Amino acid sequence: MIEARGVGKSFGAVRVLQDVSLTLRRGEVVAVIGPSGSGKSTFLRCLNHLETIDEGSIVVEGEVLASAEAGGRSRYAPDAEVRRICRKMGMVFQSFNLFPHMSVLQNIIEAPVTVKGMKPEAIIPKAEELLRKVGLLNKRDNYPSRLSGGQKQRVAIARALAMEPDIMLFDEPTSALDPELTVEVLRTMRQLADERMTMLVVTHEMGFAREVAQRVAFMDQGAILEDRASADFFAAPAHERTRAFLGQML
Ligand code: ATP
Ligand code: MG
Repeated sequence: MIEARGVGKSFGAVRVLQDVSLTLRRGEVVAVIGPSGSGKSTFLRCLNHLETIDEGSIVVEGEVLASAEAGGRSRYAPDAEVRRICRKMGMVFQSFNLFPHMSVLQNIIEAPVTVKGMKPEAIIPKAEELLRKVGLLNKRDNYPSRLSGGQKQRVAIARALAMEPDIMLFDEPTSALDPELTVEVLRTMRQLADERMTMLVVTHEMGFAREVAQRVAFMDQGAILEDRASADFFAAPAHERTRAFLGQML
């Protein structure tokens, strides 16, 4: 579970997150939607400490990752604790970020071997099982340059899952993909949701938000304007700005 309370974040003089609160419960899928530049990626990056916060607090599985007071200094758990807490979260980016000089299998076992100190032979069966799950066992020994965008993204998902996270964070995982490749990635994500993986998904895919997410949070200008059950959200968006955004998207 993730609990973000009153999170604020500025880059220099520019305030990009403002009093952002969101709770992600175990087994829940929450979609975060909103216009470009509204702070969705920054918020996700704050959750797993790729960015620091200036205000508010972030609690992951009951452990305080960060807390900060308005105008004060942000306090983080000690480095080793931060790393341990962040390991509970797997992240998938828009741009895949696979290691180009490693095969698909090597990409997947890299973090379990280097971060967790696992023996390759101990993790390879698990890596192969994950590849089978995302439909790419036959690409095991290929290099990323030989894969389609959709295949790369499914490898990126398998790679994140290899660390056995409790929570998966997705930042627009399909927005760099053609529609037919988007479908296969969404299918993999839907399968994860069916297995009750806890997921926070920044997406422009309104179909996914409507059908797979239990809740939708709409972010605009660094703030969450509404956060509601997805059926209610799409049936009757509360804010004028949400309606305007959905009008463009649907
Ligand atoms: P998109 O849908 O285009 O991905 P987003 O909602 O993810 O947009 P962010 O990437 O979080 O938006 O950006 C929010 C704001 O913060 C933007 O105005 C952006 O220019 C600014 N910003 C993001 N990262 C930095 C940074 N490292 N330094 C300065 N400003 C930044
Ligand atoms: Mg973004």
